[in-house]
Amino acid sequence: MSTTAKTDAEHFDAIVIGAGIAGLYQLYRLRKLGLSVLVFEDAPDVGGTWYWNCYPGARFDSESYSYAYFFSKELFEEWTWSEHFAAQSETLRYMRHVADRFDLRRHIRFNSRVEHCAWNEADKTWSVHAGGGQRVRAKYLITAVGVLSATHMPHLPGIEEFKGQAYHSSRWPQGGVNLKGKRVGVIGTGSTGVQIIQTIADEVDRLVVFQRTPTYCAPLRNAPVTAAEHEAFSSSYDALLERLRGTPGGFIHSPDERRAMEVPENERLAYYEKKWAEPGFGKWLGLYSDSLSDPAANETAAAFVRNKIRQRINDPAVAEKLIPRNQPFGAKRIPLETHYYEVYNRKNVHLVDIRSEPISRIYGRGIRTSAAEYELDVIIFATGFDAITGNLVRIDIRGTEGISLADSFKSGPHSFMGLQVAGFPNLFTISGPLGGFVFCNVPRCLEENIDWITDCIDYMRSHAREVIEPSAEAERLWNETVQEGVRQTLLSGTDSWFNGANIPGKARAIQMYVGGLVEFRRLYQEMVSKGYEGFEFR
Ligand SMILES: Cc1cc2nc3c(=O)[nH]c(=O)nc-3n(C[C@H](O)[C@H](O)[C@H](O)COP(=O)(O)OP(=O)(O)OC[C@H]3O[C@@H](n4cnc5c(N)ncnc54)[C@H](O)[C@@H]3O)c2cc1C
Repeated sequence: MSTTAKTDAEHFDAIVIGAGIAGLYQLYRLRKLGLSVLVFEDAPDVGGTWYWNCYPGARFDSESYSYAYFFSKELFEEWTWSEHFAAQSETLRYMRHVADRFDLRRHIRFNSRVEHCAWNEADKTWSVHAGGGQRVRAKYLITAVGVLSATHMPHLPGIEEFKGQAYHSSRWPQGGVNLKGKRVGVIGTGSTGVQIIQTIADEVDRLVVFQRTPTYCAPLRNAPVTAAEHEAFSSSYDALLERLRGTPGGFIHSPDERRAMEVPENERLAYYEKKWAEPGFGKWLGLYSDSLSDPAANETAAAFVRNKIRQRINDPAVAEKLIPRNQPFGAKRIPLETHYYEVYNRKNVHLVDIRSEPISRIYGRGIRTSAAEYELDVIIFATGFDAITGNLVRIDIRGTEGISLADSFKSGPHSFMGLQVAGFPNLFTISGPLGGFVFCNVPRCLEENIDWITDCIDYMRSHAREVIEPSAEAERLWNETVQEGVRQTLLSGTDSWFNGANIPGKARAIQMYVGGLVEFRRLYQEMVSKGYEGFEFR
Protein backbone atom coordinates (compact mmCIF):
# COMPACT_ATOMS: atom_id res chain seq x y z
CA MET A 1 0.00 0.00 0.00
CA SER A 2 1.20 3.48 -0.77
CA THR A 3 2.23 5.62 2.15
CA THR A 4 1.68 8.80 0.18
CA ALA A 5 -0.50 11.30 2.00
CA LYS A 6 -4.07 11.59 0.74
CA THR A 7 -5.11 15.13 1.27
CA ASP A 8 -8.86 14.54 1.09
CA ALA A 9 -8.90 12.19 4.10
CA GLU A 10 -10.66 13.31 7.28
CA HIS A 11 -8.25 14.01 10.09
CA PHE A 12 -8.52 12.99 13.77
CA ASP A 13 -6.16 13.06 16.71
CA ALA A 14 -6.74 9.36 17.33
CA ILE A 15 -8.30 6.36 15.62
CA VAL A 16 -9.41 3.45 17.79
CA ILE A 17 -10.18 0.09 16.18
CA GLY A 18 -12.87 -1.87 18.04
CA ALA A 19 -15.83 -0.87 20.23
CA GLY A 20 -15.73 -3.61 22.83
CA ILE A 21 -15.10 -2.97 26.51
CA ALA A 22 -11.59 -1.72 25.68
CA GLY A 23 -12.48 0.52 22.75
CA LEU A 24 -15.32 2.22 24.62
CA TYR A 25 -13.16 3.02 27.63
CA GLN A 26 -10.30 4.26 25.43
CA LEU A 27 -12.73 6.50 23.57
CA TYR A 28 -14.08 7.86 26.84
CA ARG A 29 -10.60 8.62 28.21
CA LEU A 30 -9.33 10.34 25.05
CA ARG A 31 -12.48 12.44 24.74
CA LYS A 32 -11.94 13.56 28.33
CA LEU A 33 -8.48 14.75 27.24
CA GLY A 34 -10.17 16.78 24.54
CA LEU A 35 -8.93 14.78 21.56
CA SER A 36 -10.89 14.24 18.38
CA VAL A 37 -11.40 10.50 18.18
CA LEU A 38 -12.99 8.13 15.69
CA VAL A 39 -13.72 4.49 16.48
CA PHE A 40 -14.14 1.94 13.68
CA GLU A 41 -16.16 -1.13 14.56
CA ASP A 42 -16.78 -4.10 12.30
CA ALA A 43 -20.03 -5.03 14.08
CA PRO A 44 -23.29 -3.07 13.79
CA ASP A 45 -23.23 -2.31 17.53
CA VAL A 46 -20.98 -1.87 20.57
CA GLY A 47 -20.07 -4.78 22.83
CA GLY A 48 -17.31 -6.73 21.06
CA THR A 49 -17.20 -10.17 22.65
CA TRP A 50 -20.64 -9.59 24.15
CA TYR A 51 -22.14 -8.64 20.80
CA TRP A 52 -20.69 -11.48 18.73
CA ASN A 53 -20.89 -14.39 21.19
CA CYS A 54 -24.66 -14.68 21.51
CA TYR A 55 -24.63 -18.48 21.39
CA PRO A 56 -26.83 -20.49 23.81
CA GLY A 57 -25.44 -20.38 27.34
CA ALA A 58 -22.85 -17.61 26.82
CA ARG A 59 -22.07 -15.94 30.15
CA PHE A 60 -19.34 -14.59 32.42
CA ASP A 61 -16.85 -16.57 34.38
CA SER A 62 -15.83 -13.31 36.06
CA GLU A 63 -18.09 -12.09 38.86
CA SER A 64 -20.36 -9.56 37.09
CA TYR A 65 -19.69 -6.68 39.47
CA SER A 66 -15.93 -7.26 39.26
CA TYR A 67 -16.02 -7.16 35.44
CA ALA A 68 -17.96 -3.89 35.21
CA TYR A 69 -16.28 -0.54 34.52
CA PHE A 70 -14.91 1.30 37.52
CA PHE A 71 -14.14 4.62 35.82
CA SER A 72 -17.43 6.09 37.02
CA LYS A 73 -18.61 5.46 40.56
CA GLU A 74 -22.10 6.60 39.58
CA LEU A 75 -22.23 4.08 36.74
CA PHE A 76 -21.04 1.34 39.07
CA GLU A 77 -23.63 2.18 41.70
CA GLU A 78 -26.60 2.63 39.40
CA TRP A 79 -26.29 -0.63 37.43
CA THR A 80 -27.98 -3.71 38.88
CA TRP A 81 -26.59 -7.07 37.83
CA SER A 82 -29.26 -9.74 38.03
CA GLU A 83 -26.84 -12.67 38.42
CA HIS A 84 -23.43 -13.19 39.98
CA PHE A 85 -22.24 -14.40 36.56
CA ALA A 86 -24.34 -12.51 34.04
CA ALA A 87 -25.48 -13.95 30.73
CA GLN A 88 -24.28 -12.45 27.45
CA SER A 89 -27.52 -10.54 26.79
CA GLU A 90 -27.24 -8.69 30.10
CA THR A 91 -23.60 -7.74 29.54
CA LEU A 92 -24.46 -6.48 26.05
CA ARG A 93 -27.27 -4.42 27.59
CA TYR A 94 -24.76 -2.97 30.05
CA MET A 95 -22.32 -2.04 27.29
CA ARG A 96 -25.10 -0.37 25.29
CA HIS A 97 -26.08 1.54 28.41
CA VAL A 98 -22.48 2.75 28.86
CA ALA A 99 -22.27 3.87 25.23
CA ASP A 100 -25.52 5.84 25.56
CA ARG A 101 -24.93 7.22 29.05
CA PHE A 102 -21.57 8.71 28.07
CA ASP A 103 -22.72 9.72 24.59
CA LEU A 104 -20.05 7.62 22.90
CA ARG A 105 -21.93 6.37 19.85
CA ARG A 106 -21.53 9.55 17.84
CA HIS A 107 -17.78 8.90 17.69
CA ILE A 108 -18.19 5.32 16.44
CA ARG A 109 -18.63 4.14 12.85
CA PHE A 110 -20.28 0.73 12.85
CA ASN A 111 -20.15 -1.88 10.09
CA SER A 112 -16.71 -0.49 9.34
CA ARG A 113 -13.92 -3.03 9.22
CA VAL A 114 -10.42 -1.55 9.15
CA GLU A 115 -8.45 -3.14 6.33
CA HIS A 116 -5.22 -1.17 5.92
CA CYS A 117 -3.23 1.20 8.10
CA ALA A 118 0.02 2.84 7.01
CA TRP A 119 2.44 5.13 8.79
CA ASN A 120 3.37 8.30 6.91
CA GLU A 121 6.76 9.44 8.11
CA ALA A 122 6.54 12.74 6.22
CA ASP A 123 3.69 14.15 8.29
CA LYS A 124 3.87 11.63 11.14
CA THR A 125 0.33 10.35 10.87
CA TRP A 126 -1.41 7.06 10.27
CA SER A 127 -3.67 6.65 7.24
CA VAL A 128 -6.45 4.23 7.94
CA HIS A 129 -8.66 2.57 5.34
CA ALA A 130 -11.91 0.98 6.41
CA GLY A 131 -14.76 -0.76 4.56
CA GLY A 132 -16.89 1.26 2.17
CA GLY A 133 -13.90 3.26 0.95
CA GLN A 134 -13.49 5.21 4.20
CA ARG A 135 -10.11 6.94 4.50
CA VAL A 136 -9.01 8.86 7.54
CA ARG A 137 -5.77 10.06 9.05
CA ALA A 138 -4.72 10.38 12.68
CA LYS A 139 -1.68 11.04 14.81
CA TYR A 140 -2.31 8.04 17.06
CA LEU A 141 -3.61 4.62 16.09
CA ILE A 142 -4.93 2.45 18.91
CA THR A 143 -6.02 -1.15 18.44
CA ALA A 144 -8.74 -2.49 20.73
CA VAL A 145 -9.37 -5.54 18.57
CA GLY A 146 -9.75 -8.10 21.36
CA VAL A 147 -7.92 -10.95 22.99
CA LEU A 148 -10.41 -13.63 21.95
CA SER A 149 -12.06 -12.18 18.90
CA ALA A 150 -10.47 -13.47 15.68
CA THR A 151 -12.62 -16.50 14.88
CA HIS A 152 -10.74 -19.75 14.26
CA MET A 153 -12.36 -22.19 11.82
CA PRO A 154 -10.54 -25.52 11.45
CA HIS A 155 -9.72 -26.68 7.93
CA LEU A 156 -11.89 -29.78 7.68
CA PRO A 157 -12.25 -31.30 4.23
CA GLY A 158 -15.75 -31.32 2.78
CA ILE A 159 -17.00 -28.45 4.92
CA GLU A 160 -18.68 -26.81 1.91
CA GLU A 161 -20.63 -30.01 1.11
CA PHE A 162 -22.65 -29.97 4.35
CA LYS A 163 -26.37 -29.54 3.57
CA GLY A 164 -27.47 -28.62 7.10
CA GLN A 165 -26.80 -25.46 9.09
CA ALA A 166 -23.27 -24.69 10.33
CA TYR A 167 -22.25 -21.93 12.71
CA HIS A 168 -19.14 -20.76 14.52
CA SER A 169 -20.04 -19.90 18.11
CA SER A 170 -18.56 -16.41 17.79
CA ARG A 171 -20.63 -15.59 14.70
CA TRP A 172 -23.92 -16.94 16.07
CA PRO A 173 -26.98 -15.41 14.36
CA GLN A 174 -28.26 -12.50 16.46
CA GLY A 175 -31.83 -13.79 16.15
CA GLY A 176 -30.83 -17.19 17.57
CA VAL A 177 -31.14 -20.67 16.04
CA ASN A 178 -33.94 -23.11 16.71
CA LEU A 179 -32.20 -26.33 17.83
CA LYS A 180 -35.28 -28.01 19.26
CA GLY A 181 -35.57 -31.61 18.12
CA LYS A 182 -32.49 -31.33 15.88
CA ARG A 183 -29.46 -33.60 15.59
CA VAL A 184 -26.58 -31.35 16.58
CA GLY A 185 -22.82 -31.82 16.51
CA VAL A 186 -20.55 -29.61 18.61
CA ILE A 187 -16.86 -29.51 17.74
CA GLY A 188 -14.74 -28.26 20.64
CA THR A 189 -14.96 -28.54 24.41
CA GLY A 190 -13.25 -25.38 25.65
CA SER A 191 -15.14 -22.78 27.69
CA THR A 192 -17.56 -22.00 24.85
CA GLY A 193 -18.19 -25.64 23.91
CA VAL A 194 -18.91 -26.44 27.54
CA GLN A 195 -21.44 -23.59 27.85
CA ILE A 196 -23.21 -24.61 24.64
CA ILE A 197 -23.28 -28.34 25.39
CA GLN A 198 -24.72 -27.98 28.90
CA THR A 199 -27.35 -25.51 27.64
CA ILE A 200 -28.69 -27.35 24.59
CA ALA A 201 -28.46 -31.01 25.66
CA ASP A 202 -32.04 -31.33 26.86
CA GLU A 203 -33.53 -29.40 23.95
CA VAL A 204 -31.98 -31.21 21.00
CA ASP A 205 -32.94 -34.63 19.72
CA ARG A 206 -29.35 -35.86 19.60
CA LEU A 207 -26.09 -34.22 20.59
CA VAL A 208 -22.75 -35.50 19.36
CA VAL A 209 -19.75 -33.88 21.05
CA PHE A 210 -16.43 -34.02 19.22
CA GLN A 211 -13.68 -33.58 21.81
CA ARG A 212 -9.97 -33.26 20.99
CA THR A 213 -8.54 -32.46 24.42
CA PRO A 214 -10.38 -33.01 27.68
CA THR A 215 -10.24 -30.00 29.96
CA TYR A 216 -10.54 -29.66 33.72
CA CYS A 217 -13.92 -27.99 34.23
CA ALA A 218 -15.17 -26.76 37.59
CA PRO A 219 -18.58 -25.67 38.90
CA LEU A 220 -19.54 -22.03 38.33
CA ARG A 221 -22.21 -21.97 41.07
CA ASN A 222 -24.13 -19.05 39.63
CA ALA A 223 -27.06 -17.50 41.51
CA PRO A 224 -29.29 -14.45 41.29
CA VAL A 225 -27.97 -11.31 43.00
CA THR A 226 -30.29 -10.57 45.91
CA ALA A 227 -31.34 -7.04 46.82
CA ALA A 228 -29.13 -7.19 49.92
CA GLU A 229 -26.13 -8.33 47.87
CA HIS A 230 -26.70 -5.56 45.34
CA GLU A 231 -26.81 -3.07 48.18
CA ALA A 232 -23.54 -4.46 49.55
CA PHE A 233 -21.75 -4.27 46.15
CA SER A 234 -22.98 -0.76 45.44
CA SER A 235 -21.73 0.57 48.72
CA SER A 236 -18.36 -1.18 48.48
CA TYR A 237 -17.01 0.45 45.31
CA ASP A 238 -13.76 1.68 46.91
CA ALA A 239 -13.02 -1.49 48.85
CA LEU A 240 -13.81 -3.68 45.86
CA LEU A 241 -11.63 -1.68 43.51
CA GLU A 242 -8.75 -1.85 45.96
CA ARG A 243 -9.19 -5.60 46.26
CA LEU A 244 -9.28 -6.14 42.49
CA ARG A 245 -6.18 -4.02 42.05
CA GLY A 246 -4.37 -6.10 44.63
CA THR A 247 -4.82 -9.57 43.14
CA PRO A 248 -2.62 -11.14 40.44
CA GLY A 249 -5.45 -11.43 37.91
CA GLY A 250 -7.72 -8.53 38.83
CA PHE A 251 -10.28 -11.02 40.13
CA ILE A 252 -11.72 -11.07 43.63
CA HIS A 253 -9.76 -14.33 44.06
CA SER A 254 -6.18 -14.49 45.25
CA PRO A 255 -3.96 -17.44 46.18
CA ASP A 256 -3.29 -18.75 49.68
CA GLU A 257 0.28 -17.64 50.35
CA ARG A 258 1.36 -21.04 51.68
CA ARG A 259 2.99 -23.69 49.53
CA ALA A 260 0.74 -26.71 49.01
CA MET A 261 3.13 -29.27 50.47
CA GLU A 262 3.62 -27.25 53.66
CA VAL A 263 0.00 -27.87 54.50
CA PRO A 264 -0.98 -31.23 56.06
CA GLU A 265 -2.89 -33.40 53.59
CA ASN A 266 -6.23 -33.43 55.44
CA GLU A 267 -6.13 -29.65 55.85
CA ARG A 268 -5.23 -29.23 52.18
CA LEU A 269 -8.12 -31.42 51.04
CA ALA A 270 -10.52 -29.56 53.32
CA TYR A 271 -9.30 -26.31 51.74
CA TYR A 272 -9.84 -27.67 48.22
CA GLU A 273 -13.36 -28.78 49.23
CA LYS A 274 -14.12 -25.33 50.61
CA LYS A 275 -12.95 -23.62 47.43
CA TRP A 276 -14.83 -26.14 45.29
CA ALA A 277 -18.07 -25.25 47.07
CA GLU A 278 -17.64 -21.52 46.39
CA PRO A 279 -18.74 -19.70 43.21
CA GLY A 280 -16.26 -18.64 40.53
CA PHE A 281 -12.55 -19.07 39.98
CA GLY A 282 -11.45 -19.42 43.64
CA LYS A 283 -11.09 -23.15 43.02
CA TRP A 284 -8.37 -22.31 40.50
CA LEU A 285 -6.89 -18.89 41.29
CA GLY A 286 -7.44 -19.21 45.03
CA LEU A 287 -5.31 -22.32 45.59
CA TYR A 288 -1.80 -22.38 47.05
CA SER A 289 0.90 -20.00 45.85
CA ASP A 290 2.91 -22.73 44.09
CA SER A 291 -0.05 -24.46 42.42
CA LEU A 292 1.00 -23.27 38.98
CA SER A 293 4.76 -23.60 39.45
CA ASP A 294 5.47 -26.80 41.40
CA PRO A 295 4.33 -30.01 39.63
CA ALA A 296 3.87 -31.88 42.93
CA ALA A 297 1.73 -29.07 44.37
CA ASN A 298 -0.27 -28.93 41.17
CA GLU A 299 -0.85 -32.67 41.16
CA THR A 300 -2.56 -32.50 44.56
CA ALA A 301 -5.16 -30.16 43.03
CA ALA A 302 -5.33 -32.04 39.73
CA ALA A 303 -6.01 -35.37 41.49
CA PHE A 304 -8.72 -33.71 43.57
CA VAL A 305 -10.45 -32.36 40.45
CA ARG A 306 -10.10 -35.62 38.48
CA ASN A 307 -11.85 -37.36 41.34
CA LYS A 308 -14.64 -34.79 41.33
CA ILE A 309 -15.18 -35.30 37.60
CA ARG A 310 -15.17 -39.10 37.91
CA GLN A 311 -17.89 -38.99 40.60
CA ARG A 312 -20.31 -37.22 38.28
CA ILE A 313 -20.27 -39.53 35.28
CA ASN A 314 -22.14 -42.85 35.35
CA ASP A 315 -20.20 -44.69 32.63
CA PRO A 316 -16.54 -45.17 33.68
CA ALA A 317 -15.44 -45.43 30.02
CA VAL A 318 -16.99 -42.02 29.26
CA ALA A 319 -15.47 -40.60 32.45
CA GLU A 320 -12.02 -41.72 31.35
CA LYS A 321 -12.46 -39.85 28.04
CA LEU A 322 -13.44 -36.67 29.87
CA ILE A 323 -10.66 -36.70 32.44
CA PRO A 324 -7.51 -34.82 31.44
CA ARG A 325 -4.26 -36.79 31.61
CA ASN A 326 -0.70 -35.51 31.80
CA GLN A 327 -2.06 -32.00 32.01
CA PRO A 328 -1.47 -29.68 34.94
CA PHE A 329 -4.61 -28.30 36.54
CA GLY A 330 -5.12 -24.65 35.62
CA ALA A 331 -2.23 -24.14 33.22
CA LYS A 332 -4.93 -23.05 30.82
CA ARG A 333 -8.11 -21.15 31.63
CA ILE A 334 -10.59 -23.44 33.39
CA PRO A 335 -14.10 -23.63 31.89
CA LEU A 336 -16.65 -23.00 34.62
CA GLU A 337 -19.75 -25.15 34.18
CA THR A 338 -23.23 -25.92 35.43
CA HIS A 339 -24.20 -29.62 35.23
CA TYR A 340 -21.79 -30.09 32.30
CA TYR A 341 -20.53 -33.53 33.24
CA GLU A 342 -24.06 -34.81 33.96
CA VAL A 343 -24.89 -34.15 30.31
CA TYR A 344 -22.87 -37.25 29.44
CA ASN A 345 -25.24 -39.38 31.52
CA ARG A 346 -28.07 -38.56 29.10
CA LYS A 347 -29.16 -41.07 26.47
CA ASN A 348 -29.29 -38.45 23.69
CA VAL A 349 -25.64 -37.36 24.17
CA HIS A 350 -22.68 -39.13 22.59
CA LEU A 351 -19.03 -38.21 23.14
CA VAL A 352 -16.51 -38.77 20.33
CA ASP A 353 -12.84 -38.61 21.30
CA ILE A 354 -11.31 -37.34 18.07
CA ARG A 355 -7.79 -38.26 19.13
CA SER A 356 -8.71 -41.95 18.93
CA GLU A 357 -11.47 -41.51 16.34
CA PRO A 358 -10.32 -38.60 14.14
CA ILE A 359 -12.70 -36.62 11.94
CA SER A 360 -11.91 -37.64 8.38
CA ARG A 361 -14.26 -35.21 6.66
CA ILE A 362 -17.54 -33.38 6.68
CA TYR A 363 -19.99 -34.71 4.11
CA GLY A 364 -23.45 -33.68 2.94
CA ARG A 365 -25.35 -35.23 5.84
CA GLY A 366 -22.91 -34.80 8.72
CA ILE A 367 -19.47 -35.68 10.04
CA ARG A 368 -17.49 -38.78 9.13
CA THR A 369 -14.81 -40.07 11.50
CA SER A 370 -12.37 -42.95 11.15
CA ALA A 371 -15.00 -45.17 12.83
CA ALA A 372 -18.49 -43.89 11.99
CA GLU A 373 -20.77 -41.46 10.19
CA TYR A 374 -22.76 -39.04 12.36
CA GLU A 375 -25.85 -37.64 10.62
CA LEU A 376 -26.48 -34.07 11.74
CA ASP A 377 -28.85 -31.20 11.06
CA VAL A 378 -26.60 -28.58 12.65
CA ILE A 379 -22.83 -28.37 13.20
CA ILE A 380 -21.56 -25.91 15.81
CA PHE A 381 -17.90 -24.96 15.64
CA ALA A 382 -16.82 -24.07 19.17
CA THR A 383 -13.26 -23.99 17.91
CA GLY A 384 -12.14 -20.78 19.52
CA PHE A 385 -9.94 -17.96 18.39
CA ASP A 386 -6.59 -16.99 16.99
CA ALA A 387 -5.90 -15.30 20.32
CA ILE A 388 -4.15 -12.00 21.05
CA THR A 389 -2.52 -11.38 17.66
CA GLY A 390 -5.28 -12.81 15.41
CA ASN A 391 -7.09 -9.57 14.65
CA LEU A 392 -3.87 -7.54 14.55
CA VAL A 393 -2.40 -9.61 11.74
CA ARG A 394 -5.69 -9.71 9.84
CA ILE A 395 -5.32 -5.96 9.28
CA ASP A 396 -2.63 -4.90 6.80
CA ILE A 397 -0.69 -2.62 9.17
CA ARG A 398 2.45 -1.06 7.69
CA GLY A 399 5.03 0.68 9.85
CA THR A 400 8.16 2.59 8.96
CA GLU A 401 9.55 1.64 5.55
CA GLY A 402 6.39 -0.34 4.82
CA ILE A 403 7.15 -3.17 7.29
CA SER A 404 4.07 -5.33 7.80
CA LEU A 405 3.00 -6.16 11.36
CA ALA A 406 1.90 -9.64 10.25
CA ASP A 407 5.34 -10.33 8.75
CA SER A 408 7.14 -9.01 11.79
CA PHE A 409 5.13 -11.45 14.00
CA LYS A 410 5.74 -14.49 11.76
CA SER A 411 8.37 -16.06 13.98
CA GLY A 412 6.53 -15.00 17.14
CA PRO A 413 4.99 -11.81 18.47
CA HIS A 414 7.15 -9.08 19.95
CA SER A 415 6.43 -5.83 21.74
CA PHE A 416 7.51 -3.68 24.61
CA MET A 417 5.21 -4.46 27.53
CA GLY A 418 2.37 -5.28 25.15
CA LEU A 419 1.96 -1.56 24.48
CA GLN A 420 3.94 -0.83 21.35
CA VAL A 421 5.89 -2.65 18.66
CA ALA A 422 9.25 -1.41 17.37
CA GLY A 423 8.91 -0.17 13.79
CA PHE A 424 5.32 1.01 14.32
CA PRO A 425 5.46 4.56 15.71
CA ASN A 426 2.44 5.96 17.55
CA LEU A 427 0.67 2.60 17.27
CA PHE A 428 -0.66 1.49 20.66
CA THR A 429 -1.95 -2.05 21.12
CA ILE A 430 -4.43 -2.55 23.95
CA SER A 431 -4.09 -6.15 25.15
CA GLY A 432 -1.21 -6.51 22.72
CA PRO A 433 1.12 -9.50 22.62
CA LEU A 434 3.39 -10.05 25.63
CA GLY A 435 1.18 -7.74 27.69
CA GLY A 436 -0.10 -8.61 31.12
CA PHE A 437 -3.13 -10.70 30.33
CA VAL A 438 -2.65 -14.24 31.42
CA PHE A 439 -5.50 -15.48 33.67
CA CYS A 440 -7.01 -12.03 33.95
CA ASN A 441 -10.35 -10.56 34.72
CA VAL A 442 -9.85 -8.84 31.40
CA PRO A 443 -11.31 -5.34 31.99
CA ARG A 444 -9.07 -4.83 35.03
CA CYS A 445 -6.02 -5.62 32.90
CA LEU A 446 -7.18 -3.67 29.85
CA GLU A 447 -7.70 -0.52 31.83
CA GLU A 448 -4.06 -0.59 32.96
CA ASN A 449 -3.09 -0.42 29.25
CA ILE A 450 -5.67 2.23 28.46
CA ASP A 451 -4.75 4.45 31.38
CA TRP A 452 -1.09 4.18 30.42
CA ILE A 453 -1.77 4.97 26.74
CA THR A 454 -3.93 7.95 27.68
CA ASP A 455 -1.37 9.31 30.13
CA CYS A 456 1.38 8.81 27.56
CA ILE A 457 -0.53 10.73 24.89
CA ASP A 458 -1.24 13.48 27.42
CA TYR A 459 2.48 13.58 28.25
CA MET A 460 3.42 13.79 24.57
CA ARG A 461 1.05 16.64 23.98
CA SER A 462 2.23 18.62 26.96
CA HIS A 463 5.92 17.99 26.16
CA ALA A 464 5.68 18.69 22.44
CA ARG A 465 6.63 15.13 21.46
CA GLU A 466 5.25 13.98 18.15
CA VAL A 467 6.27 10.35 17.95
CA ILE A 468 6.83 7.50 20.39
CA GLU A 469 8.26 4.07 19.61
CA PRO A 470 10.03 1.45 21.71
CA SER A 471 13.66 0.60 21.04
CA ALA A 472 14.50 -2.83 19.68
CA GLU A 473 16.69 -3.37 22.75
CA ALA A 474 13.76 -2.64 25.12
CA GLU A 475 11.69 -5.21 23.23
CA ARG A 476 14.49 -7.77 23.47
CA LEU A 477 14.85 -7.31 27.23
CA TRP A 478 11.08 -7.42 27.75
CA ASN A 479 10.83 -10.61 25.75
CA GLU A 480 13.49 -12.15 28.01
CA THR A 481 11.51 -11.06 31.09
CA VAL A 482 8.36 -12.66 29.70
CA GLN A 483 10.07 -15.90 28.73
CA GLU A 484 11.85 -16.16 32.07
CA GLY A 485 8.53 -15.71 33.88
CA VAL A 486 6.91 -18.43 31.80
CA ARG A 487 9.78 -20.85 32.43
CA GLN A 488 9.03 -20.66 36.14
CA THR A 489 5.47 -21.89 35.63
CA LEU A 490 3.73 -24.99 34.35
CA LEU A 491 2.39 -22.99 31.42
CA SER A 492 5.54 -23.52 29.41
CA GLY A 493 4.81 -27.18 28.71
CA THR A 494 1.06 -26.82 28.19
CA ASP A 495 -0.52 -26.42 24.76
CA SER A 496 -3.21 -23.75 24.68
CA TRP A 497 -4.19 -20.51 23.00
CA PHE A 498 -1.74 -18.78 25.37
CA ASN A 499 1.12 -20.05 23.21
CA GLY A 500 -0.65 -20.27 19.86
CA ALA A 501 -0.83 -24.08 19.95
CA ASN A 502 -4.49 -24.10 18.84
CA ILE A 503 -3.70 -22.48 15.48
CA PRO A 504 -1.98 -24.61 12.83
CA GLY A 505 1.08 -22.83 11.46
CA LYS A 506 1.17 -20.15 14.16
CA ALA A 507 4.55 -19.64 15.80
CA ARG A 508 4.54 -21.53 19.11
CA ALA A 509 5.39 -18.69 21.45
CA ILE A 510 3.95 -17.50 24.70
CA GLN A 511 1.84 -14.43 24.01
CA MET A 512 1.48 -13.05 27.52
CA TYR A 513 3.38 -11.83 30.55
CA VAL A 514 2.68 -14.17 33.46
CA GLY A 515 3.98 -12.14 36.41
CA GLY A 516 0.54 -10.86 37.38
CA LEU A 517 -1.18 -7.54 37.39
CA VAL A 518 0.37 -6.10 40.54
CA GLU A 519 3.92 -6.66 39.33
CA PHE A 520 2.99 -5.48 35.83
CA ARG A 521 1.67 -2.22 37.25
CA ARG A 522 4.85 -1.76 39.28
CA LEU A 523 6.95 -2.22 36.13
CA TYR A 524 4.77 0.30 34.26
CA GLN A 525 5.15 2.86 37.00
CA GLU A 526 8.90 2.32 37.23
CA MET A 527 9.25 2.75 33.46
CA VAL A 528 7.28 6.01 33.53
CA SER A 529 9.17 7.35 36.55
CA LYS A 530 12.40 6.77 34.61
CA GLY A 531 11.14 9.00 31.81
CA TYR A 532 9.42 6.30 29.74
CA GLU A 533 12.53 4.16 29.79
CA GLY A 534 12.65 1.85 26.79
CA PHE A 535 10.76 4.27 24.53
CA GLU A 536 12.22 6.79 22.14
CA PHE A 537 10.47 10.09 21.52
CA ARG A 538 10.92 12.35 18.54
C1 LIG B 1 -17.56 -16.24 25.12
C2 LIG B 1 -16.54 -15.44 25.88
C3 LIG B 1 -16.68 -15.25 27.24
C4 LIG B 1 -15.75 -14.50 27.93
N1 LIG B 1 -15.90 -14.34 29.28
C5 LIG B 1 -15.01 -13.59 29.96
C6 LIG B 1 -15.15 -13.38 31.37
O1 LIG B 1 -16.07 -13.86 32.01
N2 LIG B 1 -14.20 -12.65 31.98
C7 LIG B 1 -13.15 -12.10 31.31
O2 LIG B 1 -12.34 -11.42 31.93
N3 LIG B 1 -13.03 -12.24 29.98
C8 LIG B 1 -13.91 -12.98 29.30
N4 LIG B 1 -13.76 -13.15 27.95
C9 LIG B 1 -12.67 -12.44 27.24
C10 LIG B 1 -13.26 -11.16 26.57
O3 LIG B 1 -12.91 -11.20 25.24
C11 LIG B 1 -12.79 -9.92 27.29
O4 LIG B 1 -13.30 -9.94 28.61
C12 LIG B 1 -13.24 -8.59 26.69
O5 LIG B 1 -14.54 -8.65 26.19
C13 LIG B 1 -12.29 -8.09 25.64
O6 LIG B 1 -12.72 -6.80 25.27
P1 LIG B 1 -12.03 -6.03 24.08
O7 LIG B 1 -12.75 -4.76 23.93
O8 LIG B 1 -10.57 -5.99 24.27
O9 LIG B 1 -12.23 -6.96 22.81
P2 LIG B 1 -13.54 -7.50 22.13
O10 LIG B 1 -14.68 -7.51 23.05
O11 LIG B 1 -13.16 -8.78 21.48
O12 LIG B 1 -13.84 -6.40 21.02
C14 LIG B 1 -13.00 -6.22 19.92
C15 LIG B 1 -13.81 -5.51 18.85
O13 LIG B 1 -12.93 -5.15 17.79
C16 LIG B 1 -13.63 -5.29 16.57
N5 LIG B 1 -12.65 -5.45 15.51
C17 LIG B 1 -11.68 -6.38 15.40
N6 LIG B 1 -10.97 -6.19 14.27
C18 LIG B 1 -11.51 -5.11 13.67
C19 LIG B 1 -11.22 -4.41 12.47
N7 LIG B 1 -10.23 -4.80 11.65
N8 LIG B 1 -11.98 -3.35 12.15
C20 LIG B 1 -13.00 -2.94 12.95
N9 LIG B 1 -13.32 -3.56 14.09
C21 LIG B 1 -12.58 -4.63 14.44
C22 LIG B 1 -14.47 -6.55 16.78
O14 LIG B 1 -15.57 -6.56 15.91
C23 LIG B 1 -14.88 -6.41 18.23
O15 LIG B 1 -16.12 -5.79 18.35
C24 LIG B 1 -14.66 -13.92 27.24
C25 LIG B 1 -14.50 -14.14 25.87
C26 LIG B 1 -15.43 -14.89 25.19
C27 LIG B 1 -15.23 -15.10 23.71
